[in-house]
Amino acid sequence: MSKKTYSIFGAGAAGLYTAWRLLDGKSKRDKNEKMLVKGDVLELYDWGKYDFSKKNPGTREAGARVCTWHYKDNKDNSYLELGGMRYSYWDGTPQGAGHRVVTKTIEKLDLKKDSVEFNESADPLMSLRTKNMYVSDVNSNQPAPYFTNNYGEDAPPDDGFTTIQSVAITATSGPVTRREWCKFYENGKIEIDMPDSSIFQRGDLLKDIGYWNLAYDRLGQEGFGYLADGNGYSSNVVNSHSAQSFNVNDEFTPGTEYKTLVKGYSSLFVALFDEVEKLAKQKGITLNYFPDTRLRSILHTKAGIRFTTAKRATPDKLADSKICDAAFLAMPRASIELVAQATRYTDDEGQDILNHEEVQLYLESVIMEPSYKIGMFFTTPWWRTTEAGSPTYPAKLTSYFLTQEGIAKLKKEKFPSNYLKVIESAKNPVIIATSFNDKASFIAAVENAIQERLTFKEEKQISAIAELDTIGPSITDMPIRQVVYFGDNAINQKGEKVYGILASYDDIQYTTFWKALELGPHGTREVPESRDCQTLEGPRLATPVMVKMLRSQLAALHFGPQTDYSAVPEPLETRYMDWSLPPFNAGYHAYKSHYNLGDVQRKIRKPSQLVPKADCDIFIVGETYSNDQAWVEGAFCTAESVLNDFFGIEPIIDEKYYPFISPE
Ligand SMILES: Cc1cc2nc3c(=O)[nH]c(=O)nc-3n(C[C@H](O)[C@H](O)[C@H](O)COP(=O)(O)OP(=O)(O)OC[C@H]3O[C@@H](n4cnc5c(N)ncnc54)[C@H](O)[C@@H]3O)c2cc1C
Repeated sequence: MSKKTYSIFGAGAAGLYTAWRLLDGKSKRDKNEKMLVKGDVLELYDWGKYDFSKKNPGTREAGARVCTWHYKDNKDNSYLELGGMRYSYWDGTPQGAGHRVVTKTIEKLDLKKDSVEFNESADPLMSLRTKNMYVSDVNSNQPAPYFTNNYGEDAPPDDGFTTIQSVAITATSGPVTRREWCKFYENGKIEIDMPDSSIFQRGDLLKDIGYWNLAYDRLGQEGFGYLADGNGYSSNVVNSHSAQSFNVNDEFTPGTEYKTLVKGYSSLFVALFDEVEKLAKQKGITLNYFPDTRLRSILHTKAGIRFTTAKRATPDKLADSKICDAAFLAMPRASIELVAQATRYTDDEGQDILNHEEVQLYLESVIMEPSYKIGMFFTTPWWRTTEAGSPTYPAKLTSYFLTQEGIAKLKKEKFPSNYLKVIESAKNPVIIATSFNDKASFIAAVENAIQERLTFKEEKQISAIAELDTIGPSITDMPIRQVVYFGDNAINQKGEKVYGILASYDDIQYTTFWKALELGPHGTREVPESRDCQTLEGPRLATPVMVKMLRSQLAALHFGPQTDYSAVPEPLETRYMDWSLPPFNAGYHAYKSHYNLGDVQRKIRKPSQLVPKADCDIFIVGETYSNDQAWVEGAFCTAESVLNDFFGIEPIIDEKYYPFISPE
């Protein structure tokens, strides 16, 4: 057999995972011509150039839409995540929640030792309509400043999600497992009698209802406004596929255990690249890596898949024309559309898969959700209560959260076993996997369950194990939207202490607020936005007006409305990533209503399935058309499904309880 060439376009999560699994995966059968063998060629292209190693340096840290940024670009220093930042940990059990493929990959790459907690505060600070409060403060005596239907302002904003989804899901009914959710995406409907005034009625299919439309119908304009402002993500309330949004918004409920990697999330992608290089060498497969090179057009021909490339410096000019046996487009919707545009006008012979109407229909099935992150480093953690003082509204970053893992540790420490039994089965309130805002309420719940007072030593033991340092976030309707607190997380704890925050994590309409500040009051735009690949270059220095605007909003959030910007100290360094820019044009994606999203996932991964009489090994992998949009998990899972179903590679984990994409 002649030697094969597989070409991967995109060295982000999906592209690197594809390369790794092509090299590391085992064949499902003895004879499998699709497997890469000695003498074959694996190509990896990327429009950008990421910092993988000394041999393969880059302009920014690895991971594409994941981008760790270390203070002064020194990896010994504290860091912030200006793209994706964490994963939902899976405990390895068949029933366990969480991101199974990411967790497994981290384990297989021997990175489990680097995995650290990255949890959310049980009592976030909010500033809405110039009123500052903690979520736990909101009640009928101190309502949030909204005039919603049915007293919604007396409860936390996220309760709006529950009200919306109660048309089909209650605490005791509705989908639970991943398979059940996948069915729900297709069949989920309104299961309750709705008032006659309601636009939507019992029996209406949720897949055919926009989430914003449904939210408006259920909550009214004010209720919707409270939810949209108070949950922090505008992406969670766009007019997406309602059935999927129910699941997405379920993920943000307290109790999910998040983790990250101690050296920053980009370190996962450095490890993947290293492993790809190592395995290719071991197996005698030629690995050709082409940074700063973009896929320009792609056609299916009798000789194979013919594609053209262009260089980053001249992104529209033909650089090369090549042939491969399989092509993986490991890139988001906007990037694929650029390839489709160039392909549409090429004079080369061949079948244009990407521009077939059915393929276009499915490529358009997702909403592009731009996002924007601005990081700041300071000499002090001025946002929290320390011995040096406290802002008026400090971020409450310590919670108490006892898990089964914690119970096991307490057993080892000889904590009274009769107490542990009662704590495990406590119902009023439930203690295991419940977030307590402070030590007093946690200890009160424990003592109430055991009906005894803890000794000083027992109290110290149990609170030390349950204590959780969280990352916030704080939430506001100001354009900074969410503030995420990273603090001092330097690997080298001997150096000068530097504390980081994401001063703004915003999305959709709020990204344009910051964009206009990027050039300053005396700056004329010189680079068209369609050519501005800031995200590939790396975190860009913020302008003085941007910094002052950030300080002013941070001051209002932590010191009270109308506080002067100078309450927040001058930062040491401020940089941003604008995920509304090409080639991404979105931080993440969500399915539109009126699509069968299972069918989209199954077909678009090999788009020729949508073209009559075509069978072509062009594949689309990545977060965009996945079952786990907005997560690295989605990027890994789509790649895994393609490799299992079209390349005969054994699944990385048992698929029985965890289909990688929506099954038929
Ligand atoms: C602000 C933000 C917060 C997030 N938070 C989280 C989080 O906490 N946890 C989590 O798991 N996920 C998070 N995500 C989502 C996560 O980052 C993405 O889902 C994931 O990284 C997407 O991986 P991908 O491989 O599908 O695509 P990408 O990361 O977009 O990679 C695509 C690659 O293709 C390259 N490319 C584009 N066009 C071409 C071309 N023509 N030729 C060659 N190369 C090309 C790009 O340069 C890029 O390197 C977040 C994302 C953002 C932006």
